[in-house]
Amino acid sequence: MSRRPIKSLGQNFLVDRNIIAKIIASAQIAPTDSILEIGPGRGALTGHLAQQASRLVLVEYDHVLASGLADLYRDKPQVKVVDADILAVDLAQLLGNVEAGWKVVANLPYNISSPVLFRLLENRSLFSRMVLMLQKEVGDRLVASHGGGDYGVTTVLLGLWFDMRREFIVHPASFHPCPRVDSVVVSFVPLPKPRVEVGSEETFRRVVKGAFAMRRKTLSNCLKAADLADPGDIAGILQACGIDGQRRGETLSLEEFASISRYLSCMAV
Ligand code: SAM
Repeated sequence: MSRRPIKSLGQNFLVDRNIIAKIIASAQIAPTDSILEIGPGRGALTGHLAQQASRLVLVEYDHVLASGLADLYRDKPQVKVVDADILAVDLAQLLGNVEAGWKVVANLPYNISSPVLFRLLENRSLFSRMVLMLQKEVGDRLVASHGGGDYGVTTVLLGLWFDMRREFIVHPASFHPCPRVDSVVVSFVPLPKPRVEVGSEETFRRVVKGAFAMRRKTLSNCLKAADLADPGDIAGILQACGIDGQRRGETLSLEEFASISRYLSCMAV
């Protein structure tokens, strides 16, 4: 497993024992836990996970690393290695429901962290806790408050369904090779129901994406362009929701996005 890391697969391997121990501690592993590790790579986290959990599924896209891990764990039936792209696997089929929910642990390849986050969001009912290493900028966006430049689509869409907490920052020197940016470990705990009622979730997604699609434009213009309703109706809809259309999308709270979504969802019925 000593081949050179592949940049296009985001291979920045963890080499800092202290950080590895902190990630494992953040996962709060119980002996009965079932864990999914995305991108186990050379196994920096994997050995600890295999030791502490009762079941471990590893999804690794690099065939060479996946086959090395399959060899390493061939005598451990509780560890399953899946040589696949995490964005292509059917997670519900692969994992199946376990009563206590799966935990997810990953030092994610940064080039696909956003699509992976949305995949995990779609499959949230499978999970009880997720501990993910992300590029710091991505993590900052997740935990941002409304009104600031970091607040965006991922903050709102993931914030609807997860309690997210910034655990700790990780310096580039903790990896080999060193990434150019700082990283952050974020924990996610799925909520039993959405933080606020949004009506149709599809409408909520479209409202949020539309509101952030053109950051320099007013909310009103963004929503007119988002094809959510007749553009001539947008001003009245925002007024009915008590929201000034001259505001920018990034100033809206989750509750305000939800109220627009509820209104539009009712109109569609
Ligand atoms: N967990 C290891 C560690 O902490 O040292 C490796 C983390 S490295 C940042 C990301 C890992 O994800 C690499 O092993 C890479 O091959 C793997 N990977 C990249 N794209 C993937 C994908 N689409 N599906 C699954 N694994 C992927």
